[in-house]
Amino acid sequence: MKRVLITGAAGFLGSHLCDKFIEKDFEVIAMDNLITGDLKNIEHLFRLPKFSFYHHDVTKFVHVPGKLDYILHFASPASPIDYLKIPIQTLKVGALGTHNLLGLAKEKKARILIASTSEVYGDPLVHPQPEEYYGNVNTIGPRGVDDEAKRFQESITMAYHRFHGVETRIARIFNTYGPRMRLNDGRVIPAFMGQALRGEDLTVFGDGMQTRSFCYVDDEIEGIYRLLMSDYSLPVNIGNPEEITILDFAKEIIKLTNTNQKIVFKPLPKDDPLQRQPDISKAKEILGWQPQTGRGEGMKITFNYFKSLSKEDLYKSEHKSFSNYNKY
Ligand code: UDP
Repeated sequence: MKRVLITGAAGFLGSHLCDKFIEKDFEVIAMDNLITGDLKNIEHLFRLPKFSFYHHDVTKFVHVPGKLDYILHFASPASPIDYLKIPIQTLKVGALGTHNLLGLAKEKKARILIASTSEVYGDPLVHPQPEEYYGNVNTIGPRGVDDEAKRFQESITMAYHRFHGVETRIARIFNTYGPRMRLNDGRVIPAFMGQALRGEDLTVFGDGMQTRSFCYVDDEIEGIYRLLMSDYSLPVNIGNPEEITILDFAKEIIKLTNTNQKIVFKPLPKDDPLQRQPDISKAKEILGWQPQTGRGEGMKITFNYFKSLSKEDLYKSEHKSFSNYNKY
């Protein structure tokens, strides 16, 4: 049986990856420090003999006994609110954490895939964004802690590949949504859906003319899986190219949730990218992959997930695990 280590395993993408690899009959070693992750996302896996969980912070030395065939590094805070609240941890997990995991991959002769992001393109001046675009990033802005950590992560990954011959894969992940997103992490989809469920106005930042392209989580996970299994070591964009303005998206959510919420406009956060759309030609050509789930269908599933959460979750102003972050 192949063994895979997944970091950030209690998070949104990490937990879906755990499910995917369990389904593919891997032995899954899950790791998370639970700063932003939630054990609820993986508790259904604990009873399986081929699943184990390590409560560990990957910015510290990572030890896993036995062989490892694959490593997927998905530990990282991932929302603009997280970057404001835990900026140093965001930088450390992308930099020190990635270094530790590359060292582990080298030691175990494991193939490693790292979760990079469309944030490496910053506020892009080229549209849509192909992998060859170098980006337009403000190193010192509030989002710089994520952008630059991920850019460093890509650099050190390529260095381990070129210098040490480690088998590496780099996924540039664009906005992804689906069940298990944190309801109150400030990202636009949980924000709008939470507001609709609480009967509040939908808060559109700026004039709402900025665009995003949202990928349903099952599609994203399939793309990541195919990239890991491919022999391609340069970065690949994995996202859904269907682009929409945030204002139109707010209107879509109002229709979907069948509520009569009003839209209110709030200031645009600093360095909020004005446009974002992946060029997925590479993923199509190299991985034979493209998204299968339309926004209407994916949003319905996601809304049903948020509807199923408790009232307590719905009204919690902040994710509970932030109360833990001083410990780390
Ligand atoms: N946004 C918004 N209202 C909200 C939350 C976010 O209009 O309550 C906007 C935000 O300014 C950005 C877009 O929605 O332009 C996507 O934001 P998100 O935080 O989900 O992800 P990003 O792609 O910016 O990392």
